[in-house]
Amino acid sequence: MPRRAPYLTSRLQGFATTIFAEMSALATSTGSINLGQGFPDVDGPDEVKGWAVEAILAGENQYPPGKGIAALRSAVSAHQAACYGLAYDPEEEVLVTAGATEAIAAALLGMCEVGDEVVVLEPYYDAYAACTAMAGAARRVVPLRYPDWRLDPDDLDAAITPRTRVVVVNSPHNPTGRVLTREELELVASRCVENDLVAVTDEVYEHLVYDGKHVPLATLPGMRERTVSISSAGKTYSFTGWKIGWACAPAPLLAAVRTAKQFLTYVSGAPFQHAIARALRESDWHERAAGVLRPRRDQLADGLEALGFEVARPEGGYFVTTDVRSVGYDDGLRFCASLPERCGVVAIPSSVFYDDQDAGRPLVRWAFCKSEQVIDEALGRLSSLAP
Ligand code: PMP
Ligand code: GLN
Repeated sequence: MPRRAPYLTSRLQGFATTIFAEMSALATSTGSINLGQGFPDVDGPDEVKGWAVEAILAGENQYPPGKGIAALRSAVSAHQAACYGLAYDPEEEVLVTAGATEAIAAALLGMCEVGDEVVVLEPYYDAYAACTAMAGAARRVVPLRYPDWRLDPDDLDAAITPRTRVVVVNSPHNPTGRVLTREELELVASRCVENDLVAVTDEVYEHLVYDGKHVPLATLPGMRERTVSISSAGKTYSFTGWKIGWACAPAPLLAAVRTAKQFLTYVSGAPFQHAIARALRESDWHERAAGVLRPRRDQLADGLEALGFEVARPEGGYFVTTDVRSVGYDDGLRFCASLPERCGVVAIPSSVFYDDQDAGRPLVRWAFCKSEQVIDEALGRLSSLAP
């Protein structure tokens, strides 16, 4: 159990550290290969880096406009239209944020009253829980069960109450790698419409789909008007440190998100906004990104399978999940805590993404957004593990 942090509000107890930072620090201090925190070990395109340098040298170094530079807002709008047939007015319906993280925070802070409920898919990305807590709201989870992680209508119905305000839908999903099917999204859409709920979608892995197809929830009937669609450049372009994200929504919804955003960062990353605006317009990288990562997904999933792990092969995103019972362990937390010392590899115990500790206990998440050599080396080290 984490210790109580004396100055921290009760609503943020339990969030004092993030597992990703903790495990990355452990990887550094033990010289381990870091398959924990999801960040690529190879940067995105040089051309896009060059555009950021150009923007800095051209003097794009002061506060950009509060809602983001016009070039990026119109590039995001054009991207939504070209990829999904979704039309957003760049002036009133697109907001640039400090990564998807700030968009998620601003959406929940801007739209939830204290005591409202936020529905999330479990396992859930940590920011949804922390931002829900910061907003004074309560989370209700809808379990996606290992190993096929399908969305069950009864579970969704059980999580929706008269206090539900927002449903957060993350697809492609972290940590499971599920890409929700159109049928599953139709189910979510029907419940949002019936109960007059707002959907907040986290689509940061939209271009990292290996099997299946990414369908934005906002494209389904009745959903554009009640959805805040969030994404970011971090995963698509392999620049997770640039923190350029965005939210698209009808003006009244976006106004709520913008109001909170103004007092979080106000603005961020002026030169990177210019570089990503050009990337969205001038580069075809987003069409190639999944093709680059698919072999890494297969390498890690096949390699873990060959070592005897039971693997849930992801359809999208950055991560593979294994059940460590298949190799003779029953607790992912203990497995991950001793892994650096035993063989110099770091992974994430999936239980941190669960309220239901029993469901998450045996699961471990491994990042494959790494070079072929690094994954090879990690698999070699893991082969020395004696159960
Ligand atoms: N959502 C999900 C599901 C993520 O996995 C991540 C980060 N890896 C984020 C949001 C955060 O995105 P950003 O870095 O753009 O804030
Ligand atoms: N989203 C990344 C992951 O799931 C981590 C980002 C972070 O450290 N907050 O590993």
